[in-house]
Amino acid sequence: MAAVLDSIQSAVIARPERLRDKHGRAITDLRISITDRCNYKCVYCRTGNEGAVYAELPIGDYLRIAGVFAGLGIEKIRLTGGEPLLRRGLLELVRELRRLRTLDGAELDLALTTNGHLLEEMAAPLRDAGLSRITVSMDAVDAEKFARITRVPGSYEKVLRGIRAAKAAGLSPVKVNCVLLRGFNEDQIVPFAQFSREEGVIVRFIEFMPLEEDRLWTPESVVALKEIVEALASYRPLVRMAPNAASETAVRYTFDDGVGEMGIIAPVTQAFCGHCSRVRLTSDGKIRTCLFSQSDHDLYGVMERGGSDAELAAFIRRTVEQKEARHHIGEPGFLKPSRSMVHIGG
Ligand code: SAM
Repeated sequence: MAAVLDSIQSAVIARPERLRDKHGRAITDLRISITDRCNYKCVYCRTGNEGAVYAELPIGDYLRIAGVFAGLGIEKIRLTGGEPLLRRGLLELVRELRRLRTLDGAELDLALTTNGHLLEEMAAPLRDAGLSRITVSMDAVDAEKFARITRVPGSYEKVLRGIRAAKAAGLSPVKVNCVLLRGFNEDQIVPFAQFSREEGVIVRFIEFMPLEEDRLWTPESVVALKEIVEALASYRPLVRMAPNAASETAVRYTFDDGVGEMGIIAPVTQAFCGHCSRVRLTSDGKIRTCLFSQSDHDLYGVMERGGSDAELAAFIRRTVEQKEARHHIGEPGFLKPSRSMVHIGG
């Protein structure tokens, strides 16, 4: 009996502690930016003057880092950028990530966020490589308005074909994220709800955050959750849906007939920092513990110096432990983060 207890105990001791920060939050969600290049110049994100600013790591280095994170309890990986579909080696990366396992031996939840411009050709290969699901950013369902936002002619038609290709390839669910910005696209709320109903995709409205290269953000530029709910309810009676998980960022709605799903992500007016389970890796291998961090943590530096996986894991643990309690958007003395969204990885 004592021998059995000993072996159970040593198995428990050998089992790695899952990543947790000093506020007690379990960190299970890793976002990896694989490039900060982008083929769109969305007016609320990029100035249009700056191109790529930070380096890209070889695909194998992202993979090694992802493996170390998985060994620390990460269960979900989202590839992002910049525009991840621009990155050579993406399919190989997805194929290899698919082979990773969580600490419980399950497959990782593998997702990707894209502007959808190259998705028509890439959707089926991504699915075949093992991608589970996809989020497409799309800020208007009016073709002219969309091209004005992305500053790329013909972009709406391309992205729409990409969304349909993703559905046809069996990527599920397909989510469409729309950042609402007053004076640009707040008139798109109801058309997006109709889009969700007609195309069978989940639409999510996101409040605009002060993460742009330029200086556009003001509290007034934010189209707040309350206003989005009112606009949706003016179209048809709205029904609140139960959350999928405690750490879910979106407040979910459908209509009285159950057709369509709209989520609202309200980091500004209803911050969800208390449930944050995320950590980010930038294209140049820096860890960012919050979108609004004032500094990053050079994980790649540890690799460059020949660090072992155990040393990488120890660095990750120390860094994640210090994750910020919350952001301070809208408070006096708020400082913009040291990188803008496109250079962090959204
Ligand atoms: N290129 C990919 C795409 O378009 O989805 C991935 C990177 S992009 C930076 C990720 C997401 O961040 C997009 O949905 C974009 O709309 C969103 N985003 C960019 N700037 C933002 C801001 N200031 N506030 C809220 N969301 C923002």
